[in-house]
Order: sequence, then structure tokens, then C-alpha cells
Amino acid sequence: MVARTGEAGAKGISLIVVETAGADGYERGRNLDKIGLHASDTSELFFDNVTVPPENLLGKEEGQGFVQLMQQLPQERLALAVGAVASMERAVKLTTEYTKERKAFGKPLMDFQNTAFTLAERKTEAMIARVFVDWCIERLVAGDLDTVTASMAKYWCSDKQVQTADECLQLFGGYGYMQEYPISRIFIDSRIQKIYGGTNEIMKLLIARSL
Ligand SMILES: Cc1cc2nc3c(=O)[nH]c(=O)nc-3n(C[C@H](O)[C@H](O)[C@H](O)COP(=O)(O)OP(=O)(O)OC[C@H]3O[C@@H](n4cnc5c(N)ncnc54)[C@H](O)[C@@H]3O)c2cc1C
Repeated sequence: MVARTGEAGAKGISLIVVETAGADGYERGRNLDKIGLHASDTSELFFDNVTVPPENLLGKEEGQGFVQLMQQLPQERLALAVGAVASMERAVKLTTEYTKERKAFGKPLMDFQNTAFTLAERKTEAMIARVFVDWCIERLVAGDLDTVTASMAKYWCSDKQVQTADECLQLFGGYGYMQEYPISRIFIDSRIQKIYGGTNEIMKLLIARSL
């Protein structure tokens, strides 16, 4: 848990391990009704004067929570970019298969230039995203993935993920709007990627500070 243990501002934040089983004052609220990401519950949790022993402090010193969070954020943001690349690649694959099979006006959808060009653009961007993310992973492993680069990966890959999902769904026509077609789930689950892990606007703020 991220908790305020001291003064106002970042220096008063600490990370604490809370054993919730049987803890007085701990309560689970309702599961929030999300539009997507149904494989992962998001629930209200209430901590009302829950007490923990001092040894549950994560790390050696109180007041280091904000710094600890900042140190882990590049990795979290890169993980979101990895998911974005996988989503883009799958959307392009599914849509390529579908548009070769589905016929309109007597020919496969893929034979319309709009379809082929849309998929050519999305496939190119998925490849660019993969190469950039692979490079970021190398930097993470080497211990020098910085906040600005991780923010670029998170913002750009998730933006492209949402665009890819939207344009691929469009090529499925009405079937794309049906839950039985996996492209609909890719579309609806993509949207959160621009919001969590720090919104893409906040990513741009972080990148802009480096200009
Ligand atoms: C399904 C789900 C799972 C989540 N999981 C986690 C989790 O595991 N851990 C966790 O810590 N959080 C999690 N979150 C929270 C998530 O990270 C936040 O919702 C997100 O960071 C945005 O914060 P906010 O909701 O307070 O939006 P707000 O800060 O209210 O932002 C609203 C809008 O204003 C914009 N905005 C805000 N400030 C600025 C600014 N300075 N300049 C320009 N635009 C700005 C934002 O970009 C956004 O568009 C989750 C959220 C959801 C929906």
C-alpha cells in the first residue's frame, strides 16, 4: 500500500505491506463495472484505521515510497508497451485472415485497396513498435531504461494499439461489433492502455520536460 506517513508532499509517502486476512478495519467493496478488461477485477478496498507493525515498511527508511515508485515506473510502462505490441500484431493477423476470406461485391475484402493499405500501415507500425520495444527491453536489462524513453514507449505504442484495434474492427464490419469475434475484445480491452500506468497526456508531459 502507498500511505502517507509524514509531511505533505512526496517525502511523506511510504510503501507498506498490509496483511489483509482478518485485519480489523479492512473491507472489500464492490467490483467496479468496467467497460472492458473483464478478465481482471478492479475492486474497492477500504482501510479504516488498519494497524500494521513497523517491520511491514517496504525498504529501509520511511518517506522513500515516492522514490521507490518512480524507480519501478519505467518497467511498468514498458510492460504496457509490450502488451500493446502483442495486441497490434494479433489484430493485424486476425484481420488479415478475415479479409482474405470474407467477400463483398464478389471479391475478398483484401482485394480492395483501402483494406490492403490499412493493413499495410498497421503492420508497419506494429513492426516499428516491436523494434522500439525490443530496444527498450535491452536497455531495461542493462539497467539504463530512463523515464523519458519508457514514457515514449508507453504513450506511442498504446496510441497505436487503440488506432490499430479500431481500424481492424472496422474491416470486420458488423461482425467486428459482436463479442463472439475476438477483434471486439481487442478493441474494448485496448482503450484502458491510454489511461493506466499514467495517462498518455502525463507521458507527453514527462517527455516534454526533456526537450
Ligand atoms: C482498470 C484500471 C486499472 C488500474 N490499475 C491501476 C493499478 O494497478 N495501479 C495504480 O496505481 N493505478 C491503477 N489505475 C489508475 C490509473 O492509473 C489512473 O486512473 C490514471 O493514472 C489516471 O488518473 P485519474 O483517473 O486520477 O485521472 P485524472 O488525473 O483525473 O485525469 C483525467 C484527465 O485529465 C488529464 N490530465 C490530468 N492531469 C493533466 C496534466 N497535468 N496535463 C494534461 N492533462 C492532464 C489526464 O490525462 C486525463 O485525460 C487503474 C485504472 C483503471 C481504470
